[in-house]
Amino acid sequence: MTFETLYALDSRYVIQTYGRNPIAIDHGRGATLYDLEGREYIDFAAGIGVLSVGTAHPKWVAAVTEQAGRLAHVSNLYYTRPYIELAEKLCARSGMAAAFFGNSGAEGNEGILKLARKYSFDRYGEGRGTVITLNNSFHGRTITTLAATGQEAFHQYFFPFPEGFRSADPNLDAVQAVAGHDVCAVLVELVQGEGGVYPLDREFVRELAQLCEDRDWLLLVDEVQSGVGRTGSLFCFQQYGIQPDACSFAKGIAGGLPMGGFLVNEKCRNVLGPGTHGSTFGGNPVCAAAACAVLDILDDEAIAQVAEKGEYLRGRIEAMGPPCLGPTRGMGLMIGIEVAQGCSNKELCARLNQAGLLCLTAGADLRLLPPLTITREEMDQGLAVMKTALS
Ligand SMILES: *Cc1c(COP(=O)(O)O)cnc(C)c1O
Repeated sequence: MTFETLYALDSRYVIQTYGRNPIAIDHGRGATLYDLEGREYIDFAAGIGVLSVGTAHPKWVAAVTEQAGRLAHVSNLYYTRPYIELAEKLCARSGMAAAFFGNSGAEGNEGILKLARKYSFDRYGEGRGTVITLNNSFHGRTITTLAATGQEAFHQYFFPFPEGFRSADPNLDAVQAVAGHDVCAVLVELVQGEGGVYPLDREFVRELAQLCEDRDWLLLVDEVQSGVGRTGSLFCFQQYGIQPDACSFAKGIAGGLPMGGFLVNEKCRNVLGPGTHGSTFGGNPVCAAAACAVLDILDDEAIAQVAEKGEYLRGRIEAMGPPCLGPTRGMGLMIGIEVAQGCSNKELCARLNQAGLLCLTAGADLRLLPPLTITREEMDQGLAVMKTALS
């Protein structure tokens, strides 16, 4: 089948919600992908930060095929081994107490929002259901996570949105200015992803954690993009010197299969009891086995290399600089590249994709989220494509 045939069928049969690149990826290995015609692409996008261990990692493939041949699903009315092993691994490496599994980032965030409201209801009763979020954040595409997202552009068309969200700039005065007696939690991305790869200020995050403790607000961290090693620690909060009450995760957790969820601390382990929350596919054995393989591949040593790889890429990219590229931002392999005035990030990204380097945009900038297992050779190949395409 040719690209043109696929394109025509997609246009006819698929709801056109995405701005796709005119490329049909067929297969790959590591951070190297191939389209239908066999053209090669270096992967600096990893889906959107999903392929944490690259494409077709042999250990991941073995874990998925073994589990698929054993048991694909049995419902949460029974125990299965993979999700329990996964929960244990996640808690042991994060310092959190217990896990809930669902299927996506938005669902993980819905879960921690429900957690916060129930925690507050149990202690204080009604009237304390407001969650403070930050301007320029992104928390998902369900109606509630759109309401939580601190960008006006997302608050369109789908009225009425649920109430109970208030957004503030990322500084303590701004948060205090919107705080009232009706607040139960604060929800933040420590590195804003979709908004343009903006790490929050460390001092602000520490002050915010203290404010949450003083007011008995839950501190909720959206680690959907920043989690699973992306920023150079298993979860980004580990580098901020804070322990949230709950954090959501998704994207990279199962290395390409759909899985999301959240972790809670000891204080919150019993907030959601029997019958209060659930998800048909949550903790699916194949996805959970994939996630266990991801965590085994991303051991402490592999995660320690993430920061080095990020610094290498950023140094080489900043050296390329003008006319198109400006300074870089980010943590680990979550990288934003400022685009010079007069250049469009969308055009640059499309040009790089066409030239054989898959990358992303975020806010007004370019964004790179390569597989965490990317090799030096693949990074150099991708940088070479970038240099040629931008000169
Ligand atoms: C991608 C993303 C989401 C939404 O995840 P889905 O799996 O698409 O629902 C939520 N929060 C952040 C920070 C994200 O990057």
